[in-house]
Amino acid sequence: MKLVLLGKPMSGKGTQARMLTKELNLSHISTGDLLREEVKKNSGLGKEAKEYMNKGVLVPDELIIRMLEKNLPEDYILDGFPRTIKQAEALDKVSKLDLVIDIDCSDKIIVKRTVMRQMCRKCGAIYGLDIKPVTEDQCDSCDGELYKRDDDNEETIKKRLEVYNNQTAPLINYYKDKGIYVEVNGEEPIANIKKNILSKIESVK
Ligand code: AMP
Repeated sequence: MKLVLLGKPMSGKGTQARMLTKELNLSHISTGDLLREEVKKNSGLGKEAKEYMNKGVLVPDELIIRMLEKNLPEDYILDGFPRTIKQAEALDKVSKLDLVIDIDCSDKIIVKRTVMRQMCRKCGAIYGLDIKPVTEDQCDSCDGELYKRDDDNEETIKKRLEVYNNQTAPLINYYKDKGIYVEVNGEEPIANIKKNILSKIESVK
């Protein structure tokens, strides 16, 4: 299966993608995670991407498309890609999507979640408003150190929401026109969202 999770930053794409990956035995491809790996390695791509990421704007299409094409398996859940019409067109050239699932949330809840979010340095697990770690600043599953992403602050999230509305929201009509777009309410409890996504997937199997 070839799935795309669409949604504003902090809509819960990463959390859902991780759970669905296990359930459906698909590869989880997060362009944000791939970029953060490059930043950590301090590679050429990482150095270039870091500036855009810290400003809350999108990395140029050419860079991200090249990186994705190198990392695209046969079956996948894409999280954070495509984010522009140009990226969607590039994906259409190499793959035929089964479903695009939009996790819908208000801007207000997005800002609140951002300020609360922490991630595990070791395994990438996500904590925040809904899931709090048992021990402060420590991952429940691998004991890794929890940290805040550089771009998880109020100023940057507001910029990222503006970028989403201008550059990514047009994908909604792009995929509606193709008849592969569905929406779920992203403000429900995490388990409900997962259940709703699975039932949408079931309906196209
Ligand atoms: P994410 O972890 O998906 O929220 O992505 C973090 C940051 O990485 C974004 O704010 C962008 O700067 C960059 N990024 C991730 N995916 C893409 C993409 N598909 N196109 C452009 N920039 C991206």
